[in-house]
This record gives sequence, C-alpha cells and structure tokens, in this order.
Amino acid sequence: MLSLKNITVKYGSFTAVHDVNIEVKAGEIVVLLGANGAGKSTVFRTISGLNKPSAGEIVFDSRKINRHSADQIVQLGIGQCPEGRKLFSAMSVQENLKMGAFVHRRKKEELKQSLEHVYELFPILKEKRNDAAGSLSGGQQQMLAIGRTLMSKPKLMLLDEPSVGLAPLIVEQMFEVIQRINQEGTTILLAEQNANAALKIADKGYVFESGTIVLNGTSEELFANDEVRKAYIGA
Ligand code: ATP
Repeated sequence: MLSLKNITVKYGSFTAVHDVNIEVKAGEIVVLLGANGAGKSTVFRTISGLNKPSAGEIVFDSRKINRHSADQIVQLGIGQCPEGRKLFSAMSVQENLKMGAFVHRRKKEELKQSLEHVYELFPILKEKRNDAAGSLSGGQQQMLAIGRTLMSKPKLMLLDEPSVGLAPLIVEQMFEVIQRINQEGTTILLAEQNANAALKIADKGYVFESGTIVLNGTSEELFANDEVRKAYIGA
C-alpha cells in the first residue's frame, strides 16, 4: 500500500532522515520506534507532503506521491494525526471533528455517518460534543485528534505518538481503539516511544536512530531483541 524507497530528507544542510526504506501492506499496523529527534515525525511529515524528500520515492496505492501537495495526499486516503494533537482549542468537539472531513466536501448524510462512527468509538466525545476542545483532558484530546483524522475516512492513518503524556490506563484504552480501527479496515502507521504497548498491537516495526533505520522485523522479533528491550522496554 505504501512504500518509502531510499528516502532522504534535509532541513537546509542538516540531514534529518537518511536513505530510509519502509513497506506498509494493506491491513497492517506498522510501528516506527525511536527516541526524540530520531526522525519519525520527519518521515510522517514527508509522507503527508509537508516536507519534500531530497532523494528517494514514495509510492501509495501504485502512485508516486513525492510531488503531491498535502491536500492531494489527504484526498488519496492518507490521514495524519499529528504529534501534539493540533486541535482548534476554542472550537467545540463536534466542530473539530467536522474540520477533519473538510477537504472532502462530504455530503451531509455521509458527514453524519462519520460523526456517528467516531462517537461510537469514543462515547465520551459524544457526551462532550458541545464543549470546547481545549477543556478536554489529555486523553480525550488525543481521542478527538484520532476521531478528527478518521472523519476523512483514510485508507492509511499516520499516528504520531498517540500515547505521549497519557496515564497507563488511558494508553491501554487508546491502543485498544487503534486496534479496532485497524480491524475495521484502516491500515495504520504508528510512531511511538512506548514500544511495549505498540509492539503488542503491531505486525512489524522499524527502529530509528539518528535518521536511519538500524533494525526492523516482526513485532515478536523486535520484542525479543535485547537492544530494543534495553532501549525501549526497560528490561
Ligand atoms: P520527536 O519524537 O521529538 O518528534 P522524531 O523522531 O519525530 O522526534 P524529528 O522531529 O523528525 O524526530 O526530528 C529529526 C531531526 O530533525 C532532529 O534532529 C530535529 O532537531 C531535526 N528537525 C526537525 N524539524 C526541523 C526543522 N524544521 N528544521 C531543522 N531541523 C529540524
């Protein structure tokens, strides 16, 4: 579904991502592991069209998308849920959700169905639909950010550190919902520092260090790998 082939991304003369290869097949959950600054967000921003690679090729559904605009990429079916959530905090929960469907100019009925789907996944958002997004707890804001991304009905969802700053119980609920979204047919590429939670739901993963992939394998392989355990699982 998505291939990154020998992707390099620079900020000025600084190379943030170097010669990266990633394969995501339809139906998979794939995780990118790595410390702060390893280059995961840069990879996401490059897939979404916000950064342009200086070398390499990105192919989505048999189309080369390197030169597509961010809008075109959303329309092709890639939805990005950015790190830090980027909500409109003065707007209501429901208004934030509707913004997620904006680029698609959906019909009223379709918009309603998407909203109902998000409210079914996250009942708390329905309860708080008229509240300002900024008044929600951290976990609820993360749910809203995921819900807003779902409103564009992506085939592939990019989730940048959904668990950051959340209590363990909330993280667990978040990953259960991510798994359910996947089971309902959305392919997921996830960046995480919480390797323990992420590898439990992922099919496979890539480990980033200083902008390059130093290791990749199935979740079982990575979970059993001593270096991964030492660096990301703490065992
Ligand atoms: P984080 O979890 O902190 O987001 P990350 O793995 O996603 O980490 P990136 O944000 O992709 O890492 O950053 C990779 C490298 O690129 C870092 O060294 C960072 O300082 C640098 N970088 C990121 N954005 C820019 C920018 N706009 N200009 C210059 N350098 C940048």
